[in-house]
Order: sequence, then structure tokens, then C-alpha cells
Amino acid sequence: MKLIVTVDSEEDNWGNVRASHYDVENIEALSDFQTLCDDFRVTPTYLVTYPVVTDETAAATLRTLLGDGNCEVGAQCHPWNTPPFEELESKRNTMLCNLSDDLQHKKMAVLHAAIEQHLKISPVSFRCGRWGYNQNVAMNLAKLGYKVDSSITPFTDWTAVGGPDFSAVGPRAFRTTSSTTHRWGNSRRFPSRSATSDGSASTCAGAMQCSGSFSAGASRARASPEYSRERISSEKSGSHQKRPMQRR
Ligand SMILES: [Zn+2]
Repeated sequence: MKLIVTVDSEEDNWGNVRASHYDVENIEALSDFQTLCDDFRVTPTYLVTYPVVTDETAAATLRTLLGDGNCEVGAQCHPWNTPPFEELESKRNTMLCNLSDDLQHKKMAVLHAAIEQHLKISPVSFRCGRWGYNQNVAMNLAKLGYKVDSSITPFTDWTAVGGPDFSAVGPRAFRTTSSTTHRWGNSRRFPSRSATSDGSASTCAGAMQCSGSFSAGASRARASPEYSRERISSEKSGSHQKRPMQRR
């Protein structure tokens, strides 16, 4: 079994879901955290938000960590503080899945470009803030060249807070293609541990989950067998309990 460590690396005043100023002083503490990871020979993936990557001090911390070569930096889109701000400010619109395909893409592209500009890397790992993932996010991830997504929380239903329902999706990683992202699990089966980053246009990893599935560092990303529709069906009828909803 592989343990994957991902860190939501985001603003200090996290509970503020408005397009306002954010402090990001906590990012300095990643240096100490990285030392701990180094001691345990763990390669963490820091999933950074727009306010973090556009803050010069925070970006400098991340560049230093990247320069040491023991971590990966990916993108985490908090739509409420990622421009452009074309949507109404509301709790519902804090979920990427509730925004139009076009606006989703604009925000994801702005975040992607900001990471490229400030950190000099092209991120390939992604997470939706508040887990607000849907098929359009998967398609937009493919357009932007992402290989791995970790926005799906197995056996968890976020509909009470305007988000997606993942209660029928289990913890194993799976792979989707650009032509089959319209239903969870309705995609081609891949052999165990197949590489995720073969560069094919048909390999959107938008539904890939982090739980035991991929190694931090895109070049080492791995997929375990895809989560098939049959498996989802069997788990639906099985004894899995829904996890209590957590606030994110
Ligand atoms: Zn977040």
C-alpha cells in the first residue's frame, strides 16, 4: 500500500469565502513540515491556491521547497478567490461544479498560469476547493494538461452544501478519458499501476482519487485499477456507510 501525502496549501483566513484580501503567513510553516517529511522520506504534494501563489513571500517559500526537489506543487482552485469574478458571490458558487463550464475553465486557467509564472513549473495535480468536482472540471483538467485529480471524497455526499454526491464512489483510484467523463466510472479499465501521464489526449485523470492511488510527483504518478461501473453498482448494494459530512 502507498500512503500519499497531499497538503491543502491555502490562505490563513480559510473560512472567508469571499473575493477579498487573504493573508497567507501559514505557508512559511511548510518549511518545517517539509523537514519532517524529509525525515520520513515522504514526498508531499502541496496543492496551492491563487492567493498563495500570487503572494511573493509565499511563492518564494514554495520555490525554495521545489528547488530542494523533495516535493510536488499542484493546483487547488478556490473559485471564490480565483479571478475572474464573474459569478454572484454566494456559498453555492464556492463550488466549481456550480459554475459554468466556461467560467470554470477561466478560473482554472488563471490559477494554472499564476503557478507557471510564479513557481516556474506546470502543475499536473489538481484539487477542487470544497471538493466541488464534476464532469466539466474533468474536461477542463484535460484541456489544461492535468494528470491527476484528488477532488473526489469516497462515500461522501456534499449535496446538502450545494456540492456533488460521491456516495456511490469508492476509495480506489480510477481513470477517465475525455470521452467518458460524463458518468463516474463509465470508462475504460486500465491495468493495475499503469502510468497516468502518457500524454494522450484521451487520458484525463480528472476522476483520479488520492486515496492510496498516486505517488506525489507527476513523473511518478501511478493509477490503480479504474473504478468500474460494475464496482460502483456492487458497492451501492453493499454495506458501506456514508461518511459523516465534514466541513471543508
Ligand atoms: Zn481548500
